[in-house]
Amino acid sequence: MAFDSSYLQQDEASRLKTILEGTGAGTWEWNVQTGETIFNERWAEIIGYSLEELQPTSIETWMAFAHPDDLAVSDQRLNAHFRGDTEYYECEARMRHRDGHWVWVRDYGRLVSRTPEGEPEWISGTHIEISSSKHYEQKLELIKAEQQQTIEHFEKMSSLLPGVIFQFEVRPDGTMSFPYASAGIERVYGVTPEQAKEDGSIVFNAIHPEDRKYVNQTINLSRESGENWICEYRVVNEGVTNWVLGRSKPEFKPDGTVLWHGAILDITSQKALEEQLRQSSTTDDLTGTANRRRFTEVLGWEFQRLKRNGAGYAVVLIDFDWFKKVNDRYGHHVGDLVLKETANRIKNELRSGDTLGRIGGEEFAVLMPQSDEASARQLAERLRQSVEELEFVGFTELRGTITCGVAISDKADEKPSQILVRADQAMYRGKAQGRNQVVVFDQTLSDPG
Ligand code: GH3
Ligand code: MG
Ligand code: MG
Repeated sequence: MAFDSSYLQQDEASRLKTILEGTGAGTWEWNVQTGETIFNERWAEIIGYSLEELQPTSIETWMAFAHPDDLAVSDQRLNAHFRGDTEYYECEARMRHRDGHWVWVRDYGRLVSRTPEGEPEWISGTHIEISSSKHYEQKLELIKAEQQQTIEHFEKMSSLLPGVIFQFEVRPDGTMSFPYASAGIERVYGVTPEQAKEDGSIVFNAIHPEDRKYVNQTINLSRESGENWICEYRVVNEGVTNWVLGRSKPEFKPDGTVLWHGAILDITSQKALEEQLRQSSTTDDLTGTANRRRFTEVLGWEFQRLKRNGAGYAVVLIDFDWFKKVNDRYGHHVGDLVLKETANRIKNELRSGDTLGRIGGEEFAVLMPQSDEASARQLAERLRQSVEELEFVGFTELRGTITCGVAISDKADEKPSQILVRADQAMYRGKAQGRNQVVVFDQTLSDPG
């Protein structure tokens, strides 16, 4: 195709210009050979001037207002187009506005004529202001970069977390999925994030069978009430049982899907500590029996049960005879040993529902649920004999005996401790009568005189 140097006189060209002006585009025409330029009013307006103010215009006008960095790019692309490498010239460039700020323009042009020697001659093009969209685009890029950083940061953090960060959804048809789960889900549940995304139900297979129902109940409760889901349960992964704490917030989608956002934390070590703490707060260190606090607590439960028409119970109070002498003769340390071994011997005689508690220095008590006077007396007698026969390792000549006081529950009692008072009275009668014996409480013991 041959270029016609009389382009400017063409009707078609002027028609095109009119159309372009209608679109709010700045137009430019440039004679590459002479440097002559023609801009329209809009071209000047984009940078805050009237065309009049910019006169006389030349290619220098463009060069004066364009950002140097963008000018370099523009030059490269123009040359590529002049060489015939590109079908048109296109570039995004900043231009200095009259007020000092930069405006972004999309610069588009096409060569319309060449000299008889084939050199580029006239090129015409347009400027469209894209500042606002450019601004938006830059913002978007910034947000994207920030988002990427946040996500990376988040992933790093969550890999340190002993647990899982997740989104879990239950759809109206009952199917479930984890649209997002951090890598920790594999450590906790033995399921990859991809697997969990595909089918959320497989995660539930790893929940301890005894806890599965409870977990489901708490999820349903959260769905019905809109409250956060909070649940402690066990997970079995590769034969190892761990405790986890799940917390999440439900979001209700218009289509009926419920989407929970939350985290699951491995709390196995906390649980172990808790258990240890619970143990030490309820157990006597020396003998491993219940401590006084624990014994009183269990006695309280039995008392409440009796008040609600539960079964009667019995208490056997046990006090070592002449224990001061054991200490005096063999030393406190041996005394401790005797207490320990005696407690073990007593434990062996008890039923699983009985509670043995150390309620004083060398005083123990047995709580026997669902027991009457006869069975309590029988047990106490068995204990007395058993301790009497007990031989202590390394101390063949050491023999200990106990005196037991037996009392049974009374619905008329106002406090759980009253049964202990009766057992104590019976026990003291035993001491007074010569020790190493079992005395069952009867009313004459509490009557004065
Ligand atoms: P009784 O037959 O009248 O019960 O005489 P007893 O010497 O056992 O007298 P009592 O029950 O009043 O005194 C208990 C003694 O047990 C007092 C204390 O020296 C000793 N004792 C209490 N707790 C411990 C303990 O944890 N270890 C040791 N080794 N001795 C203890
Ligand atoms: Mg005592
Ligand atoms: Mg004693």
